[in-house]
Formats: sequence, C-alpha cells, structure tokens
Amino acid sequence: MKPATRIEPPPWMSAPETEAVLAALGAGGVRARFVGGCVRDALLGRSVKDIDLATPEPPETVLRRLKSAGLGALPTGIDHGTVTAISGGRPFEVTTLRRDEETFGRHARVAFTDDWAADAARRDFTMNAMYADPDGTIYDPTGGLADLEAGRVRFVGDPAGRIEEDALRLLRFFRFHAHYGRGDADRAAAAAAAAAAPRLAILSGERLWAETHRLLAAPDPVPVLRLMERLGILAHLMAEARPDFAALSRLVGIEQARGEADPLRRLCLLLPHAASEGFAGRFRLSRRDAERLNMLTRPTEIAWTFDAAMRAAIYREGQVAMRERALLAWARAEPGAMADWPDLIRRIEEWSPPRLPVSGADVLALGVPSGPELGRLLRAVEAHWIANDFRDERPALLAELKRRATAASDRGY
Ligand code: ATP
Ligand code: MG
Repeated sequence: MKPATRIEPPPWMSAPETEAVLAALGAGGVRARFVGGCVRDALLGRSVKDIDLATPEPPETVLRRLKSAGLGALPTGIDHGTVTAISGGRPFEVTTLRRDEETFGRHARVAFTDDWAADAARRDFTMNAMYADPDGTIYDPTGGLADLEAGRVRFVGDPAGRIEEDALRLLRFFRFHAHYGRGDADRAAAAAAAAAAPRLAILSGERLWAETHRLLAAPDPVPVLRLMERLGILAHLMAEARPDFAALSRLVGIEQARGEADPLRRLCLLLPHAASEGFAGRFRLSRRDAERLNMLTRPTEIAWTFDAAMRAAIYREGQVAMRERALLAWARAEPGAMADWPDLIRRIEEWSPPRLPVSGADVLALGVPSGPELGRLLRAVEAHWIANDFRDERPALLAELKRRATAASDRGY
C-alpha cells in the first residue's frame, strides 16, 4: 500500500510502552500498524483515548509474540481476531487484518487476511479506515484523509449495504457526524439510516448505550439529535423520548462554559421521569447510572433560591445531587427569568451540609433504651434542627432531646 502522507508522530506513538508492543509484534519481521480512532485523532491533533493496532499475523501468533516479549496478552476477542496487549499498564487492542466474507445482520463471518485494503473495506467510515506506521507515515486506502479534512463522515462503500450488515453503524454514523462532521450529513447515508432505523430494535442494549453515550458526549449533540428526530430515528432508538431540545441546547452551553460534558445529564432532557427505569433496563445502564437518571429526572417543586429550604434539600439529597438538579433547572428555565443561576450553583457548591451534632449515644445517656423510640427521638430532633435552618448547636439540641425524651417517657414508652 502506498503512503498517503506523513505526520509528526504524537508522543504516544513513540512512548516506551507503545514501542514495546510494536517491537513484540514485529519480532517476526512483519510490521503492525496503528489503525482507526487513534490515527484519525492523531491527524486532527486531538488527544487519543485508546490505541488500536492491526497486523497481518493471526491472533495465536500475536498472543505468542506478546507473551515471549513478557507483555500481558489477553484473548479478549480471539474469534474475531482481537487480542489485548497490556504494556506499561496500558491496553492496546491488536486485531488481525480481516476481510468480510458474508454477513447476517450484525454477525459478520470474517476471514483473516494479509491484505490491508481488504481490512479497510470492512471498516465503517473512511476516516476510521486509515493506518499509521510508528514514524507517522499514513496509509489511506479509502480516501479518509480528504473526508476528515472536509468534515465528511462517509461510509466505506454503499451506506445502505453497510448498514444492512450491521444496524449499529447507523447510530455510529450520527455519533461520528456529531464529533467530526461539518455541515449537512451525507444524504445517502442519512436516508439509508432512516430506512433501517426499525432494525435498531434487534441490537443489544449494551451496544446501543455505548454508542448513544458517545453521541451525547459530543461537544454539541443537539443538531444531530434534531436530525435524528426529523428522520424518525430517535423514536426507534428510544420510543419514550420527549426531547426538550431548547433546554438541551442551553445545557450544552452551560456545560461548555464550565468545561463539562455529561452524557447522562444531557439524557435527562430527552426522557420523562416515568421512562427512566424502562430506559435504564433496556439499555443496561449500570446501577449507578440508573439511579442517577432516576433521581435527576424526578420533578421537584423547590424554589431555586439559596434559602433554608434549599439547605434542607442539600442536607437530604446531597450537594452533588442538588448541583445537578440546579444545572438542569437552569437549562429548563426561560432565559432571563429571575434566578441568578451561576450564583445559586456557586452557593450550593460552597455549602457543605453540617453533621447532626447529637447522636444515638446522647439519647441512650438520657436513659432511653435502645430500640425504635431512640431512632424516633433522634429523627424528631434532626427535623427540628433542619427546620431551624441548622442554627442550633449541641447544647440547644441536647436540651431539645431531653425535653422530647421526658415528654415521651411521660407518655410511657
Ligand atoms: P473512539 O475514539 O470513539 O473509540 P474509534 O474509531 O476507535 O473511536 P471504536 O468503536 O473504538 O471507534 O472502533 C475502532 C475501529 O473499529 C473503528 O475506527 C472502525 O475502523 C472499526 N469499527 C468499529 N465498529 C465498527 C462497525 N460496527 N462496523 C465497521 N467497523 C467498525
Ligand atoms: Mg476506539
């Protein structure tokens, strides 16, 4: 394959842990190359998340070479040719060059090959089908370089056929357009995606969530989400969606100003609370994500001012949760409405809720036997303390505790 261009290799390409993997893979005289996202992002000068390598050698040979070089080697996807190398504590996915033989839905029957162009042909987009030597030499068998420069997310081959082979690619198309596209999305691809959208239903929740999550993490996913809605695709991805795009746009702006991009928080403006549990189940969200989605979509009646009610809510729900809720409420609020949101959020961040200055030991010391009455007394005093805006200190609370304990004992606990 002829080189297309050469770039100054970014530091990760020549880092010792990377070189160790390349040396191990090259021990037999056959060179491995970087491929996919890391090459694309290196060309753009963006930071690289994970490093993928391609090699003409079969996976068993890859395993052997890594092991004899003393590197970690895990057969993570050996059937489809993928081995994960661990070097310097970092994972490197090493995949044997493949050619697609036949495809049934998303199960492609693959054959290993030593043909780089055939391997490129089975990849999804031209910008994802470039290879690099460690010295920065770039190989581009499908015209990805020009597409990347133009902000064109283009399928390798016929979009309808490629989506037919694997419906997830239609979602990947929008994900990559949100991250790398400029201007209008490729029309043929968008039309093919719309026609195939009902087939999203056959994909696993994990795969759908992985792509949806990355789509929502784009600097501004709103134009692509609007396009997906117009094409009828959003409804196939999440039938329960009730998108508030105006609010989502504001949230994106708020996040950008703060250097944040939180996919799950953004999702909250696409889904009603009643749908959050069903969504979490179908997309197999982690328990943590599921709870967060459920909590953040739950409506609240709170007035968005930093007062005693707000402090009580922070005490009960936590600082992080109230900050999240405030960011979402800000995004939902009509612009120019009263609240000084940045000030409110700063105050939430700065007010760490105090700890209740009395404990069960204090109740016991008053002669109350341990049991349900103890818990009841403590909670009553806590409620009194919260209602007084956390002003009472320990002596006042001990007195209050005593008063309530005596009253309870008079009633005969
Ligand atoms: P990211 O930086 O988000 O990880 P990536 O390009 O590395 O982007 P991955 O999902 O990690 O994306 O996939 C790695 C590479 O594998 C892609 O660049 C592409 O060449 C190929 N690929 C992944 N999924 C598919 C698919 N469904 N169909 C065809 N090729 C795919
Ligand atoms: Mg990747």
